[in-house]
Amino acid sequence: MGNDGGSIADRRDLVRSKPKAEALDKANQTRARWNFCALSKRRLQEPIVSCALGKLYNKDAIIEFLLDRDAYGDGEQICGHIRSLKDVKTLTLAANPAPALPAAEPLERPQFVCPLTLKEMNGVMPFLYLRPCGCVFAVAALNAVRSAPPDGQADKDICPQCATKYSHALDCIPLNPAPEEEERLRDLLAAQRLLEPVKKSKKRKAAAAGADAAVEPPAKKVATASIATASNSLRSTLALEEAKRKAGMTDAVRALYTGKDTGRKETFMTMGTFTRYA
Ligand SMILES: [Zn+2]
Repeated sequence: MGNDGGSIADRRDLVRSKPKAEALDKANQTRARWNFCALSKRRLQEPIVSCALGKLYNKDAIIEFLLDRDAYGDGEQICGHIRSLKDVKTLTLAANPAPALPAAEPLERPQFVCPLTLKEMNGVMPFLYLRPCGCVFAVAALNAVRSAPPDGQADKDICPQCATKYSHALDCIPLNPAPEEEERLRDLLAAQRLLEPVKKSKKRKAAAAGADAAVEPPAKKVATASIATASNSLRSTLALEEAKRKAGMTDAVRALYTGKDTGRKETFMTMGTFTRYA
């Protein structure tokens, strides 16, 4: 198009091409999200799991990641919030009963459907899974079924597939949510994590106080700073490092931290360090 003597590209051609490319890109991304593991990028294959952010993964990829967090280059970016298999739920998915057309590309036939309406899970309709049981439904279908029974007990819904109790407000996790919804889930997860390890950090503090009172001030500082970060993985890393540091700490180094001279055990090395950084 253009500059070949036949036609000249005008503004309309150029401006129109951009949204078209974007739309194509978006369609490809949607197809990738609903058909491929978010971590390994391999075709989704049962057992399939999902996290608190509603991403879809092959369970084997998550196990691989948990065993070696560097197994996938960008693993921490994609699912750094997964600390153990307790942070994912194995999904109960209904296989698509539609016969596969021999000529069609396998990707053109979605693997799974909503068990209530048989609507295909292909990214067109929003889907969700229930946190307690892992059953997957189209959002509209679940809402339709839900409004039918008499309510009164707001948070005592029952999964229409396996009869597990769930809370409609807390246990419906959208699959592959829109960016702003994902952000909300991320905030929710951060808040939950912030609440959950308080006991642990108290325990750690108590242990630290019992083991070595002299190092208590830096330990406290690390603990408070880490709570503010709201990142549990970071917190555990810090705790581990703190423990390692404490284990390897000599009396002379401890004296530097406390600022008190515990029996003049300074060597030429610590004296040097002290002078340099004081
Ligand atoms: Zn269920």
